[in-house]
Amino acid sequence: CGIVGYCGHQQAEHVIIEGLRRLEYRGYDSAGLAVVADGTLHWAKKAGKLANLATELETHRLPDSNQGIGHTRWATHGAPTDANAHPHLSADGKVAVVHNGIIENFATLKAELIAEGVIFSSDTDTEVAAHLLGRETARGAGLAEAMGRVATRLAGAFTLVAVSADEPDVVVAARRNSPLVVGLGEGENFLASDVAAFIEHTRDALELGQDQVVTITPDSVAVTDFAGNPSEAHPYHVDWDL
Ligand code: GLU
Repeated sequence: CGIVGYCGHQQAEHVIIEGLRRLEYRGYDSAGLAVVADGTLHWAKKAGKLANLATELETHRLPDSNQGIGHTRWATHGAPTDANAHPHLSADGKVAVVHNGIIENFATLKAELIAEGVIFSSDTDTEVAAHLLGRETARGAGLAEAMGRVATRLAGAFTLVAVSADEPDVVVAARRNSPLVVGLGEGENFLASDVAAFIEHTRDALELGQDQVVTITPDSVAVTDFAGNPSEAHPYHVDWDL
């Protein structure tokens, strides 16, 4: 129900947890985050309030990182459990994804992946996206290219935000019929389902169009369609108070 992505010079865990806190008013049943450090994914996820996740992070500390994704979940497919909380990981453990919305054709995609030998570890519709992304990157696609290809295969409404252990300083997102905004900072950029998540860091934003992929690094933002062609997003300044 809430999504945050971050790439920059601050501690990603801190920015993400604060961002998720700003989205708490929307309601949720679970929360989680993933960061990339030294070419490895690290993550934590918990059913219940953000306070549960914070407690988990105190006992199982994540390494310092400047790149990560976070999620608050409003369960649609699968009970609100730790296993069903986001992020979900690809089979090779290299790609982590968070998702808001519903993947309507997940059952067909899940059957296809199971036939290929993929083992699922949750009851969510979201996990198919993690495995599809992992399949594309394992075949040599970059994360942004993989995201476009996977997004074309999904029916329904989605905001997806992903990181890869193999791509330092990159966070990639895609959207269709589900909100996604980019926050433009100095040496840092943000992704979120709502500007409230990053308003304390920047008021310069980009509103994405339908069926777009966005790639952020600390110093750049690139927007394309699902096929990878450059595309336009709408810049605006948040001049209201939240
Ligand atoms: N459909 C996904 C799930 O049930 C995402 C729900 C959401 O938007 O938080 O896990």
